[in-house]
Amino acid sequence: MRTALVTGGGSGIGLAVAERLRKDGLRVATIDLKPSETDLAFAADVTDRAQIDAALSDIREQAGPVTVLVNAAGLHASALARMIEGIPPERIPPAYFCRGVYFTLRGPAPFCRLIYPVPVAGGLGVHITLDLAGQARFGPDVEWISSVDYTVEPARGEVFYAAIRTYWPALLDGALQPGYAGIRPKISGPGEPAADFVVQGPDTHGVPGLVNLFGIESPGLTASLPLADEVLRKLRLAEI
Ligand SMILES: Cc1cc2nc3c(=O)[nH]c(=O)nc-3n(C[C@H](O)[C@H](O)[C@H](O)COP(=O)(O)OP(=O)(O)OC[C@H]3O[C@@H](n4cnc5c(N)ncnc54)[C@H](O)[C@@H]3O)c2cc1C
Repeated sequence: MRTALVTGGGSGIGLAVAERLRKDGLRVATIDLKPSETDLAFAADVTDRAQIDAALSDIREQAGPVTVLVNAAGLHASALARMIEGIPPERIPPAYFCRGVYFTLRGPAPFCRLIYPVPVAGGLGVHITLDLAGQARFGPDVEWISSVDYTVEPARGEVFYAAIRTYWPALLDGALQPGYAGIRPKISGPGEPAADFVVQGPDTHGVPGLVNLFGIESPGLTASLPLADEVLRKLRLAEI
C-alpha cells in the first residue's frame, strides 16, 4: 500500500484531502500544528525544518516510504514548498498575509438576511452575517500584514462604523465589540489583480507525487470537496 503525507491535514482542506486519499486506498499520514484524531497524525510546525524531519522519520518508521505529498499548509504553503527539493523557484508564488477582522453587534440582529456592500480591493467589503445563534457580525475588513497575527484592535472599530452606516445608518455608537480575525493566504499582493486558487501538480513543477495548494482563500471552505477531487486528479495524471 502506498503512503501519502498531507501537511496541514489536521483540519480544513488538508483533512478533506486526507480522507479522500484514504478512500482511494492509500495509507495517509498527516502533519499539523493541531493533529487530527486519525491514525498517523503527527504534530509539527511546517515552518521548522527540524520538526518536519523528526515527523518524517517517525512516519517512515511506522508507514514506510512516503510517495505522495500534499502541501495544504494554508498560510505557510509557499514557505514549505521552498524547502522541497526539485521545485523550480519560479513555480512557487509569493505569500502575502491579509488579515480580516470581525466585529459583533451587542444586542439583537437588525436584519434577518445577509447584506453585502459593493466589494473592495482584497475582500468582499464589511458585510453582515448571522451566526447559528442569530448573532450579527460584521466583516471582514482588509489589512495587509507582514506576519501571522490574529489580534483584533478595538480601534479598527472606527472603520467599521463608517462602512456599516453606508447600508445601516441607524447603527448606534458603542454597539460594536471586537470579534475575531482570520488571515487570507494571498498569492497576489496589494494593488495586483486577484489571483485564483493554484492547485499545482507534477505536470507544473516536475516533482513526482507532489501537489501544492497555494492561495486557498475565500471561498476555499465552500470549495474544499472539489479541491480534494482536484488534488486526486493531479495525482492520477502523474500515474502515481
Ligand atoms: C476572513 C476570512 C473569511 C473567509 N470567509 C469565507 C467564506 O465565507 N466562505 C468560504 O468558503 N471561505 C471563506 N474563507 C476562506 C476559508 O477559510 C479558507 O479557504 C479555508 O479555511 C482554507 O482551508 P485550508 O485547509 O487551506 O487552511 P486552514 O483552514 O488555515 O488550515 C490549515 C491547516 O494547516 C495547519 N497549519 C497552519 N499552520 C501550520 C504550521 N505552521 N505547521 C503545521 N500545520 C499548520 C492548521 O492547523 C490547519 O489545520 C475565509 C477566510 C478568511 C481569512
